[in-house]
Amino acid sequence: MLEELALLIKLQKIDNELGDIEAEKGDLPEQVERLKNEVAQYKSQIENIDIDRADIETQRSEQMSIVEAAREQMKKSQSVIFSVKTTREYDAISAEIDQSKQRISDAERKQLESMERDEELENKLDEIKQMLIKVEADFKDRQSEMQDRLESTQDEELKLNHEREKIVVRLKLPVYNHYIRISKIRDGEGISTMTDSACGYCFSKIPPQRQVEIKRMDDIILCEVCGCIIVVETI
Ligand SMILES: [Zn+2]
Repeated sequence: MLEELALLIKLQKIDNELGDIEAEKGDLPEQVERLKNEVAQYKSQIENIDIDRADIETQRSEQMSIVEAAREQMKKSQSVIFSVKTTREYDAISAEIDQSKQRISDAERKQLESMERDEELENKLDEIKQMLIKVEADFKDRQSEMQDRLESTQDEELKLNHEREKIVVRLKLPVYNHYIRISKIRDGEGISTMTDSACGYCFSKIPPQRQVEIKRMDDIILCEVCGCIIVVETI
């Protein structure tokens, strides 16, 4: 048998075993990744809300200072309004008082709006924190589950990958590349076994002369339909 064919058959067996190990992991790695992203998203939402609430607090204290200053101004105006001598002065001070009143009422309205907005944000923050606790717990569970599974298959995977490397270095690069290209598009099968005069992967019939050549196993022969390297059962 052509040495390269023997190597390819071994390679396919190793890749099948590696594929089984990968399949056993299932979608756990994706789940872990998804939960990790969710945790990060909730954390950044919490940070943003904290920033918004700090802004609201600053605005509220600014509005409070405005109210205090306007009250002070109003008091001053009210204390002099009855001692004015002319109507013009009276009107001017009266207008000042109205202005102060307006300022107070605007600032108080804004304060109220800020309080409402802050309350909304506080509720939202509570909700997000609850969800974060849940997602974080989920993430830790899945992560340790994945860790356990990885540990149980790690040695086997290392051994297989090591054997695989030893085979790959002995294969001609174009042959290896063809095998990889075909396995990628044929569910991990780069090699197919001739069964009942047909390709074991795509089941297309193989002409008798081709069958004879395949049985000799002294050349690399591709299935004309699916591109798999066709061999005969060697076990
Ligand atoms: Zn085929």
